[in-house]
Amino acid sequence: MIEFYSVVTVNSEDYYELLGVSREASEKDIKSAYKKAARKHHPDNTETGSEDTFKKLGEAYDVLKDPQKKTIYDQYGKDGLKGMGGGGAYGGGFNGAGFEDLSDVFSSFFGGGFGAGGGRARSRARQGHDHSVDIRLDFLDAIKEHKKKIRLNPLKSCKACGGKGAEKDTDIVTCSTCRGAGQVSTVQNTILGQIRQATTCPSCNGTGSEIKNPCKPCKGKGLKREDQEVEVTIPSGVYDGATMRLTGMGDAGAHGGPSGDIYLQIHVGNHKNFEREDANVFSQVNIGFPDAALGTELEVPTLRGTEKIKINQGTQSGEVINLKKLGFPMINRPSNNGDHFVKINVVTPRSLKSKEKDLLQELQKLRQDKDTQV
Ligand SMILES: [Zn+2]
Ligand SMILES: [Zn+2]
Repeated sequence: MIEFYSVVTVNSEDYYELLGVSREASEKDIKSAYKKAARKHHPDNTETGSEDTFKKLGEAYDVLKDPQKKTIYDQYGKDGLKGMGGGGAYGGGFNGAGFEDLSDVFSSFFGGGFGAGGGRARSRARQGHDHSVDIRLDFLDAIKEHKKKIRLNPLKSCKACGGKGAEKDTDIVTCSTCRGAGQVSTVQNTILGQIRQATTCPSCNGTGSEIKNPCKPCKGKGLKREDQEVEVTIPSGVYDGATMRLTGMGDAGAHGGPSGDIYLQIHVGNHKNFEREDANVFSQVNIGFPDAALGTELEVPTLRGTEKIKINQGTQSGEVINLKKLGFPMINRPSNNGDHFVKINVVTPRSLKSKEKDLLQELQKLRQDKDTQV
């Protein structure tokens, strides 16, 4: 159930390359490229997240979205921007504007709560682990909203001790190693002299207290794995590779820290008749030469049954018929559908019966060289 993915990073220092846009890209293109890349590289994205790349993207976007900074960057590069906007290269602007812009990057996530990353608690409280769950759907499942039951086994606060880890409150005593400080100092001898360093107390893991009689069900940890069955709603229009977040459904945090999240990794299967690109669907139909020349009507399979299409007189092989709104629902606007494009292939018969051959030879004489162009 838990999966680990390799980290994907973009190795470029050029702001345009980082965002994958040309130097002529419009403000709108830059914004949408940033959103796409930020979503891919966000550290919370267990599949392709990278904190380093994500920061670089924020830095690039902060400059390119600002006409003034962009002009300076275009002319003088990063050096020209030094001294603008606070401490780091991308200063204060990023955390505000960047995250605001990101809120709808994750709009398909449950709960919407896009925790602004970064600020993991530095106190003893630690955020619980995130977990990833694979959800497999058939190609056609994405037409409709789907409810799926998933099994989780997250760490939860132990019910027997209320998360304290001790049988009774009086069993919790001050840690004898650190005398309750939660930290111990170590002294290191280096060429620069002695360096005194404070580290987390190994006896109490920084809690400052010890448990005399640990709670048996959780062995004093205060957290215990629990089986859970959760029903999740997969929105219509979901696509292969989409990630959805169940905020706070991951492991409970240690020492009162916030819970981690569950990421649903969506995998959508293929279909023998259809291909998909975003909300649009593509299929093909073969017709004979007489139908192409004379025109006809025929039924073609669509996502929701069959649809009658009209083949015009004189249809050429490769022509495409657009069945408007018969594609998949758009994930963020489920009342809107993509289109279904049907490509017409005109098929030449590979073998002919004698009467067919006679008729075609007659046609050949009548047409002579009318259709041949060299
Ligand atoms: Zn317990
Ligand atoms: Zn201690």
